[in-house]
Amino acid sequence: MCLQYFGLCANNYLWMKREDLIPYSFGGNKVRKAVHFFKEIDKGRFDTVVTYGSGSSNHCRVVANMAAERCIECYIISPEETIKRTFNTIFMELFGAKMIVCPIEKVHDTIEKTLGKLKSEGKKPYFIPGGGHGNLGTKAYVDCFHEIRQFEKENGIKFDYIFHASGTGTTQAGLICGRLLENDPIKIIGISIARKKPYGRDVVVNSVKDYITSMGMIINKDVIEEATNFDDSYVCGGYGKDSERIRSVIKNMFVKYGVPMDNTYVGKAYAGMLEYIKKHSIRDKKILFIHTGGAPLFFDIWKETNNEI
Ligand SMILES: *Cc1c(COP(=O)(O)O)cnc(C)c1O
Repeated sequence: MCLQYFGLCANNYLWMKREDLIPYSFGGNKVRKAVHFFKEIDKGRFDTVVTYGSGSSNHCRVVANMAAERCIECYIISPEETIKRTFNTIFMELFGAKMIVCPIEKVHDTIEKTLGKLKSEGKKPYFIPGGGHGNLGTKAYVDCFHEIRQFEKENGIKFDYIFHASGTGTTQAGLICGRLLENDPIKIIGISIARKKPYGRDVVVNSVKDYITSMGMIINKDVIEEATNFDDSYVCGGYGKDSERIRSVIKNMFVKYGVPMDNTYVGKAYAGMLEYIKKHSIRDKKILFIHTGGAPLFFDIWKETNNEI
């Protein structure tokens, strides 16, 4: 899928992989992951899907869309602390998803209760972890890594770095698994958009281990640790928070290049990448930035700020 040379960027050569252009429901990494979960849903003839996420969740929008397409019911458990009405929320409603809001500490119980209630009603519910986390989600990004390798082979180039926004860590885990399975020296830098170390990084490492184990393979723990670059220097106050600098990077990317980036994930990660390049004096390298999606959130920026970006 769409991977293009983008131009010079802070003394390096930049390519961009546009996961936001995956042709379904505004694209994004959540589509790539959800496809795998819905294969299971179709195979097992499940008639209801339950998932979890905030009112601004790209994952929940995509899952609600895929459920609506199949005419199966979709329940979304949302922590009340994160319930912000965004375009993603509006689309979830449009797809007919049923939103259940509860305090964050009750999320686990509410999921269990909802699944129990549905089963007692004779339904066959399928649970998708928040953000499409788990081995199926990881697999989606192992596949993405193979696509990147394919592009390199076809074009006779070799990237030195991959940068991308890291949230639940599944995207990063998949890319790292791909790299380890192919014995590729590429550096994968996950720019954390919310989580701090050690937790955020541990989740990535554990997801890599889970996937490798599920494949019946063993990779030394030190090798996995070494391959995991999770940088929490640019979280900028936490999930959904941004800064003037991030907004000016977003504005520049749209005005000068026509590339929309949201301020929760992609704009934050791109701004983080620029800082990282400077901080680590990276130059003359071939860098691939993965644009992981989030188009509806891009529009929320302009609605909220009344165009005063
Ligand atoms: C969810 C999301 C991410 C983070 O992906 P993870 O696999 O959860 O780390 C990055 N960008 C966008 C646009 C997302 O929606």
